[in-house]
Order: sequence, then C-alpha cells, then structure tokens
Amino acid sequence: MTGSAGSKLLSVALIGRAAHQAAVDRLRRSYDAIAPSETVRLAKKTSNLFRQRAAASGPGLDVSALDGVIAIDPAGRTADVQGMCTYEHLVEETLRHGLIPFVVPQLKTITLGGAVTGLGIESTSFRNGLPHESVLEMDIFTGSGEVVTVTPGGEHADLFHTFPNSYGSLGYATRLRIRLEPVPAYAALRHVRFHEADKLAAAVAEIVESREWDGIRVDGMDGVAFEPGEYYLTLATWSEDGGFEVVPEEVAQRPSRRARKLAPQPPKTSDYTGMDVYYRSIQQRETDVLTVHDYLWRWDTDWFWCSGAFGAQDPRIRRFWPRRWRRSDVYMKLLGLDRRFGIADRLDRRAGRPQRERVIQDVEVPVERIGDFLDWFDAEVGMRPVWLCPLVATGDWPTYPLEAGRTYINAGFWGTVHVGPDAPEAPRNRAIETKVHELGGHKSLYSDAFYDKDTFDRLYDGANLAAVKHRYDPDDRFITLYDKAVARR
Ligand SMILES: Cc1cc2nc3c(=O)[nH]c(=O)nc-3n(C[C@H](O)[C@H](O)[C@H](O)COP(=O)(O)OP(=O)(O)OC[C@H]3O[C@@H](n4cnc5c(N)ncnc54)[C@H](O)[C@@H]3O)c2cc1C
Repeated sequence: MTGSAGSKLLSVALIGRAAHQAAVDRLRRSYDAIAPSETVRLAKKTSNLFRQRAAASGPGLDVSALDGVIAIDPAGRTADVQGMCTYEHLVEETLRHGLIPFVVPQLKTITLGGAVTGLGIESTSFRNGLPHESVLEMDIFTGSGEVVTVTPGGEHADLFHTFPNSYGSLGYATRLRIRLEPVPAYAALRHVRFHEADKLAAAVAEIVESREWDGIRVDGMDGVAFEPGEYYLTLATWSEDGGFEVVPEEVAQRPSRRARKLAPQPPKTSDYTGMDVYYRSIQQRETDVLTVHDYLWRWDTDWFWCSGAFGAQDPRIRRFWPRRWRRSDVYMKLLGLDRRFGIADRLDRRAGRPQRERVIQDVEVPVERIGDFLDWFDAEVGMRPVWLCPLVATGDWPTYPLEAGRTYINAGFWGTVHVGPDAPEAPRNRAIETKVHELGGHKSLYSDAFYDKDTFDRLYDGANLAAVKHRYDPDDRFITLYDKAVARR
C-alpha cells in the first residue's frame, strides 16, 4: 500500500507477547481480588452498549492493559490483537501494512472483543460476514479464572461457536487472532438512488451474487433509507488511484456506457471531518472518493446522523465544535449526561410535548422482506433515516442463528419517538421485536430487549448457552446473557 491511505496514522506501537502476558496476569490478579460470592464484571472506560445497566458495586476485572495490537503477520495476513483493543487503534496499525480487518465496525471505540461478542457489522459484511467469522482463534478468560484457547475445531470448539452474541456472559476474550485483507489507498464511491425498497433489495441480491454493479467491482455496500421513496445504496470500490476499476470484459460481458464514463477519476478526496456532513453527501453526489482510512470512519464523525441532536451539524455551531470532538464517543458521553440529568425529558415536559420512547435498535431482516419491514416501520414508528447494511453469514452460530448463506439486511435506527405518558412500557420497541421475528429476522442485543425468558431461549438457543456456561463457569461468576440483555444487570 502507498502511504496515502494512512495519511492520518497515529503512532501506535505493537505491544509484543511479554507485555500481553503481563496484562493477562494483571487481569487474573484483579479476578482473584473479587470475593467468590461476588458477581464478576468488566471494569472498562468506553462502551458502545446502549442499554442501561445496574451500577457495579465492587471492583471489576482490570482489562486496562489489554487494549493493544500484539503482533501482525503481513505475509500470512493475520493479526494477534488484545480483546479490548479499539478498532481505531487496530486499523491504524494494520493500515501501515496495507491491510484491514475483514469487517471494521463504524464506531472508533468499538473494541475487537466487543464486536466479536456483540456482533459488529459494516459494509464488507455482504462478502465477509460478521467480525467473528474472520476470527481464527481466541484466548478466553472464563468464569473459573482460567484462560482457554479456543478454535473452530479444537477441544473448546463449543465455546468458540457459542461466544458470538454472548456479550461477555461466557468469558472475556483477551487475545484474538484475526484475518486481514489487503486494501489500496482509496475507496471510490457510487451513491445509487432507488425509488422503491423492493428495487433496492433486488439490487442487493444481485450484488451479493455477482460482486459488481454496472460492470464495476463492489467491495463495500451499505445504504440509507431517507424517506419513503428515497433509498440509496453506497457502493465502494477499492481503488489505487481514486478511479473505478471496470471489471475486465471477460468477467462483465458488456461494461455499460455509465461504467466507462466513471473510470478513472483523479484522486481528489472528500473530507467529512470538516464542515461537510457525510450522510448529506449521499443525497447530493452521485460519486465520491475517500481515502480508505476516511471511508472506514465516515460514519463515526457524526455518529451516522445522530450528532444533529446536539446541534453539531448546524454550520454556526459546527464551525466552533473542535474537530477532535466530532467523534461518536464524544456524542455517547453527551447522551450519557442527558440521560443522567433527564434534560430532554424536562424540556419536553416544559414545552407540553408527550414523553419520548428511545428506539435504538439494529435488526436483521431477510433481504426479500426489507420492503415490508420499512413500510411497517414508516407506519408504526415513523423514524428516519434508517441505515441499511447487507450481510451474509458464512457459518452457523447458535447464539445468533442467522441462516448461513442467506442474505439479510441490517436496519439500524437510533432516535426517539413521542409516545405520551400513558403508553405501556416501550410500545414501539416491543412491536419491533414482534415484527422482526414475524418476518424471519433477528434482533441484536446491544440495546433494550423485552423478551420473556422462554421466547429469549428459543431465539438465542438458551439451552446451548446454559450448557456451555455451565462447563466454563460452574459457579456462575459471570452474569447470564438473559440477565444482561433483558434484566439489565
Ligand atoms: C447507537 C449504536 C449504534 C451502533 N451501531 C453499530 C454499527 O453500526 N456497527 C456495529 O458494528 N456495531 C454497532 N453497534 C453495536 C456495537 O458493535 C456493540 O454494542 C458492541 O458490543 C460494542 O462493543 P464495545 O467494544 O464498545 O463493547 P462494550 O460496550 O464495552 O461491551 C459490550 C458487551 O460486550 C462485552 N465485552 C466487551 N469486551 C469483551 C471481550 N473482550 N470479550 C467478551 N466480552 C466482551 C461486555 O461485557 C458487554 O456485555 C452500535 C451500538 C450503538 C449503541
């Protein structure tokens, strides 16, 4: 890779195996210091979980020194990474070698362990699946205080396969060996508009199959539903020079006129960490060029569109909002303050507006049902925009049983709707749970969930979870998935 893709590289050093061992020893000492009668929890500074949890009463597991990259094998295209390493640090390090993880979730402070145990997703998921599907092996610190090395086929294969979507209830990954893929300097983008959700769904199915659109290779694919009748797919093509590499004639029989017209473009890149806002550019431009670095973090600067709630997209405010504070973790902290002091609720009451329900969810719907879901969502919830990210799981994972090889679209929506003071608890969130399962989909568990225990066990294979937990945590030192995800412990 040329240096230009990593033009914003920070100085991050590999930490090496001795320092990693010292960090694991420190974790173990913190575990030993917790009384056997106490529940064990993680003590960690950042989080991208949305659901509120009971406050920890005692000291937690000290994972503070588990936030680095241990080693990279550029020839074998793998990396050994500590469990709490953020993707921001991980990518800074891998880009030096012209490599990136198979899937890089959009928010900079999501950690590798968090994304594997809590199911991250991004625009490469239509060809690479979810982050856990490019993990080769893991060291997991279990409830009995041991570190076990788990692989897809070894002695601990049960833990390897049950771990994704277990949210730390089966143990904490301290080291993960992951696969990396090569990238050039640039991502050339096409924003393709659709007037009907079903047409978008058909295009997604076609791209999953052919890995190209209009004769041009597609390396990354995500989309936005702005309004009913206004849908976009953003198709990214990895590019050496910022132009679109047209698929050779023998692969794409007849590259269309449009494809020829687009190739190649000069590498003048856009920058959405300044005054311009990325998600607006989707409606405003047909094509764009970003460095791969900026493409990976295109959604972090404004937390998709959510920074608007803090005024950060208003040019009068944006001008004075320090660039280094245009980041998802800053908005997450602001949101935490709002929740702590009930600011939005108070403003609503003062203005005589009905109370709000927070509707923050990501759901997976089979591609052919996404139109039905969006129609229903418009009528019943009425919140826009909605982020759309196609994915195809490559294997079977019991705790999140997507059908391997089937195309789903992840729909992500993060906001509030007015429901009024007399509404039952979380009416919209509950209706979404019902609708998603009616359509053959699944719901991720990083936010609020309201299932009863039987339904939960049916959807997330509770019997298998309980058996694996019993094997690795016989004294129940870790909180169960149901207690974490639904009972908010
Ligand atoms: C508004 C919002 C939008 C989101 N959008 C996206 C998105 O677009 N793409 C995407 O990929 N994801 C998205 N997420 C979900 C996010 O990837 C998951 O919540 C993920 O689990 C967060 O990882 P984290 O590193 O911040 O972990 P944390 O928030 O710290 O922890 C998450 C859970 O994982 C456990 N955990 C943390 N580290 C480990 C470890 N090493 N081993 C085992 N368990 C561990 C914790 O105990 C906890 O239960 C979104 C979340 C929110 C709130």
